[in-house]
Amino acid sequence: MNVPILLLDAAWRVDRVITSDRAVELIAGGRVVAASEELAAVYHSPSTTIEVPSVIARLGGIVGPVRGLSCSHRRVRIRDQFECQFVIAGVPCRRRGDSVDHLQPRSLGGPSSWTNLVAACTTCNGMKGDTPFATMSARHGWALRREPHVPSLASIILASTRPQPGWEPYLRAA
Ligand SMILES: [Zn+2]
Repeated sequence: MNVPILLLDAAWRVDRVITSDRAVELIAGGRVVAASEELAAVYHSPSTTIEVPSVIARLGGIVGPVRGLSCSHRRVRIRDQFECQFVIAGVPCRRRGDSVDHLQPRSLGGPSSWTNLVAACTTCNGMKGDTPFATMSARHGWALRREPHVPSLASIILASTRPQPGWEPYLRAA
């Protein structure tokens, strides 16, 4: 039994999703407190029972600023719903976005950032190669399904795991 648990930082802001196996270690170590009355899992050992709430918050001293949501290829594909983002001659590509394309190619200094990366199928990615998207657009009429944007932490969490009802107030604030 391993269910997703929402971990908050010491200021009760959404940090990330962890497994209940990891949550039970944090609870047993006295490093977190319950942040929801909703019970997600119960662990039994010969000597004790540990209840794992669906939301837990770190105990801690110093609380830093909210970390920006770091960009990864996996998260770009989640943001783009695993759809190839290219539209060619007015027709959205229907293949899966199994790879990630740099709109401005890395070889030309394009960064690996939320606004320069899009999910792309390997066919479109291969056709585009090292050509900047702006050139594909001007010469061949390529467009994008959606402008690439920085997603909210909540949207990535919602798209990548099944949220528990008890997470809702925290995700709304994230
Ligand atoms: Zn495609």
